[in-house]
Amino acid sequence: MAEVARPARRGLMLILSSPSGAGKSTLTRNLKTENNLDLSVSVTTRAKRPSEIDGVHYRFIDRPTFDQMKQHNDLLEWAEVHGNGYGTPRKEVEASLAAGRDVLFDIDWQGTQQIVAKARADVVTIFILPPSMAELRSRLVRRAEDAPDVIAKRLGNARDEIARWNKYDYVIINDDLQAAYESVKAILTAERLKRERATGLSEFVNGLLSEQLP
Ligand code: 5GP
Repeated sequence: MAEVARPARRGLMLILSSPSGAGKSTLTRNLKTENNLDLSVSVTTRAKRPSEIDGVHYRFIDRPTFDQMKQHNDLLEWAEVHGNGYGTPRKEVEASLAAGRDVLFDIDWQGTQQIVAKARADVVTIFILPPSMAELRSRLVRRAEDAPDVIAKRLGNARDEIARWNKYDYVIINDDLQAAYESVKAILTAERLKRERATGLSEFVNGLLSEQLP
């Protein structure tokens, strides 16, 4: 008997936001190994940290290039964060979604709002909270990749970022990285199974119901 085609699914956009140091970068790195999930690599005008690789963590660009990308509508969203420009190149994201792949974003609340405004039905947002402000500060200090004045600025901005928590679909308190990772994976699994995301589901069910049993 001819099998009815399996339902397909539109690609979804999974956005993780958090103040710097809440553990989001480690989470996104681990999630990259997940099936069918592409990580959106942002452009930024900020200086590269010693541990970062151009083209992997970010594409590091200068201000004129950033402004040009904005003008040419090459960015799906963009924002000024900590005095630097950050943005999501549009082309790569659109190619992934068109191929039915999901895309993971590590972006701030401003960029999240822009993407939600454009494509609410295909967007899932998660906010990662630190267990305490003291822990957040010690993570930034331990990371030892930013100068003290930069750390102070990031802590100040963390309060503004945290205040946006209630605009997100899910909130995870990251006091244990492995547990936080499992939570994000559970959200992704559930969101991937949402009925509204499936195309061809009614054809599949009709096929099931019309199947002749011997
Ligand atoms: P960092 O400089 O610590 O890597 O990132 C600073 C902040 O910028 C983080 O909150 C991060 O999520 C955000 N960010 C990184 N890339 C983008 C982007 O493409 N767009 C927006 N709106 N924010 C971004």
